[in-house]
Amino acid sequence: MNDLAAGASFPVAFRTLGCKVNRVESEDMASDLLGRGCELVPEGDAAVIIINTCTVTGDADRKARKAVRHALGQPSAPVVVVTGCLAAVDPKAIREISERVVVEPDKERVADVVASVLKVSGAPHEHAIRQGRGFRTRAMLKIEDGCDNFCTYCIVPYARGVPKSVALEDVVSEAERLVSAGTAEIVLTGINIGRYRDGDARLSALIREVAATGIARLRLSSVEPPHVDDDLLDVMARTPSVVAHLHVPLQSGSDRILRAMGRHYSGREFEFLIAHARGTVPGLVITTDVMAGFPGETSNDARDSLALCERVGFSKMHVFRYSERPGTSAAKMAGAVPPAERAARAEALRILGHTMRENYIDSIHGQERIVLIERGSGASVTGTTEDYLRVQVHGADSGQEGRLLTVRIDGNDGEVARGVCVAPA
Ligand code: SF4
Repeated sequence: MNDLAAGASFPVAFRTLGCKVNRVESEDMASDLLGRGCELVPEGDAAVIIINTCTVTGDADRKARKAVRHALGQPSAPVVVVTGCLAAVDPKAIREISERVVVEPDKERVADVVASVLKVSGAPHEHAIRQGRGFRTRAMLKIEDGCDNFCTYCIVPYARGVPKSVALEDVVSEAERLVSAGTAEIVLTGINIGRYRDGDARLSALIREVAATGIARLRLSSVEPPHVDDDLLDVMARTPSVVAHLHVPLQSGSDRILRAMGRHYSGREFEFLIAHARGTVPGLVITTDVMAGFPGETSNDARDSLALCERVGFSKMHVFRYSERPGTSAAKMAGAVPPAERAARAEALRILGHTMRENYIDSIHGQERIVLIERGSGASVTGTTEDYLRVQVHGADSGQEGRLLTVRIDGNDGEVARGVCVAPA
């Protein structure tokens, strides 16, 4: 190890791959390291690079290995600490990449490992608040980890284990700290947050308690269809700080493929659920995940997915091309769809998603939205609305990061809306 960054005694860098839970876990690890006197620097200046990996697909594994090799090639010749889901399911393959790689699947232990590599002495300080340099004005708050759904394409239940919930009082006290630090939006995050339990308290009770901390805006990450129940919809409808946005993964519009995926609902049930949710929560906006090219998917199944997506009308769709993940039952299924066909079906879904996004932005032209400003100044101020739309804001003063502004939507750049600042919210 050599050439430490000037002025940084314990320079560390993070590379985070995969889901929102990984992002929030990286923020927690970074907070712990900042509390011990480490400094966050660019990868090229770091003495230790922490890579928080994902293993949701074969592609994710390749990206993780590439990130490790890239980190090893940095001029500061860092030690590379690898954690996350790939580190949990295949530690040997990562360890073999280089002697400068340390594998630590337990994220709670990563800060200790880094501290011992850097010879940072002394106990960690009080858990640093996840705010300030390097963090978002929108804070993600992890309430749950793990999943026992065992969708046939997914390795996550093997990598993260069964659902484990953070104690309700710990979630609330972290939310209180974030509110007092000036955070405008909290996103309750987990692998399968609908499985949240603390005694009798379920997700709806937790939302009520977090909202009572006075947070201006409260959002849920992804909620699986079976957990979009009346308790949840009721608390969303009655709590003004909870945004009218739900991300509900569909995955396929074909009942046959949903069954093969181990998803426990039909296309009709999904449609009914979303209609019911929209009828209960005024102005509710729905985003989703859809997968193209699952084994056995015919062109008719792909058409069913497109048709169902169009009927439901999502304001945003994350489209994934199926890729085999060794260790999952789907990877052993017959009927692999040729890669070019997977790509073509994914592209058709993306085009539909893009069109629906554009239509949605057009439909709110002239309306006002409250925008949380996340970055930029002058002509390039951007932020996110309650309904999860990115907006490029003009007419706003500089230095507004973390503030809520009232913005009138007056333009459409496809994925991003344009709007003029009318007033502070
Ligand atoms: S719900 Fe399915 S896709 Fe999501 S983490 Fe659990 S097993 Fe994976």
